[in-house]
Amino acid sequence: MTAVVPQRPTGGRLIDQFEYGLDAPICLTWELTYACNLACAHCLSSSGRRDPRELSTAEAEAVIDELQRMQVFYVNVGGGEPTVRPDFWHLLDYAIGHDVGVKFSTNGVKLDRVRAEQLAATDYVDVQISLDGATAEVNDRVRGTGSYATAVRALENLAEAGMRDFKVSVVVTRENVSQLDEFRALTDRYGAQLRITRLRPSGRGADVWDELHPTQAQQRELYSWLLGNGDRVLTGDSFFHLSAYGEALPGLNLCGAGRVVCLIDPVGDVYACPFAIHETFLAGNVRSPGGFQRVWQSSELFAELRSPQTGGACTKCAHFDACRGGCMAAKFFTGLPLDGPDPECVQGYGENALAARDADLVPPRSHLDHSHTGPVRGQPTLLGMPPVPAKLCDESPLAGLELR
Ligand code: SF4
Ligand code: SF4
Repeated sequence: MTAVVPQRPTGGRLIDQFEYGLDAPICLTWELTYACNLACAHCLSSSGRRDPRELSTAEAEAVIDELQRMQVFYVNVGGGEPTVRPDFWHLLDYAIGHDVGVKFSTNGVKLDRVRAEQLAATDYVDVQISLDGATAEVNDRVRGTGSYATAVRALENLAEAGMRDFKVSVVVTRENVSQLDEFRALTDRYGAQLRITRLRPSGRGADVWDELHPTQAQQRELYSWLLGNGDRVLTGDSFFHLSAYGEALPGLNLCGAGRVVCLIDPVGDVYACPFAIHETFLAGNVRSPGGFQRVWQSSELFAELRSPQTGGACTKCAHFDACRGGCMAAKFFTGLPLDGPDPECVQGYGENALAARDADLVPPRSHLDHSHTGPVRGQPTLLGMPPVPAKLCDESPLAGLELR
């Protein structure tokens, strides 16, 4: 499907140009696999089991070739847990060798001393270790027993190997928002940088969003903390809805979905944003003729997303210029209209909109769920390294096989 893409203005504010989209994404996330050794309660992609349709090594290389041609200078690689893919280290080298830098997110399970030394000696690679509590007690309630120790061991290995400025990536929740200073102390200890992002009701996150998303009072606390510490903390521009409190936070302050942001999922499907894995936001597949470039530049969905918002409740709000109505994915997965307030609108309009929803409304859910079998959804439990299944096909038809 091709579409007429709205004309991007030349000159003027950067945000006005970005609103119309760019020729290549600035922030491309590529989830290499849905396989994961953990079962985090808030996993945005409901990961766990490998998908048998996962891109092969050759197909993944072809995507990297294309990114090089499009001059995409780096990708955010994630999953699932990307390092459990047998060809992960090969694809990392392949990307770097083709001028595509890699920032990958991991729970640290494979970052032993040898891998840490390899990473420290490699240019154009950055690592983000996921940690959702500054203490084992808080972290493991969400990410699973033992996951704090695994992450800290990876941090130690990276620091000892001489890696600098790697990231500790934290999803801010009701349970850890009071630990922000502790997180910073922890990252300072390892010569790392703190990166905090917003909890969205995507994937398994929808099951725990009500109990884990920060309260209004905590959002105010977070905003004040960001104003005081923002220069030393990365946020992926994910808290721009807080700008409606007053002073704007640093960043684009714009939902970049389909404009400057997108996701390639493990089977090659391209979605408008990593937090929007749903048919509504599916723009195409890299296996189709024209590949990723055609999807990015010509899909009808992305053309639509690149049209500036002109109607809806938020455009009438005095704070619209600051918060732009917030996060599309957060609205969608809580069953709110996309042109209305964010469910966490700091002016309180989101709470009113949530309360006014039809009592029978069932918020949309992703059509994909790769969660491990068993009591995983909504359960902050760790499964540990996946056991060898009694039959390989208990996990997936291709479990344990190296895809080529
Ligand atoms: S009503 Fe909309 S634009 Fe206004 S503060 Fe809330 S989310 Fe932002
Ligand atoms: S949908 Fe939300 S998470 Fe995705 S780009 Fe927009 S604001 Fe960011």
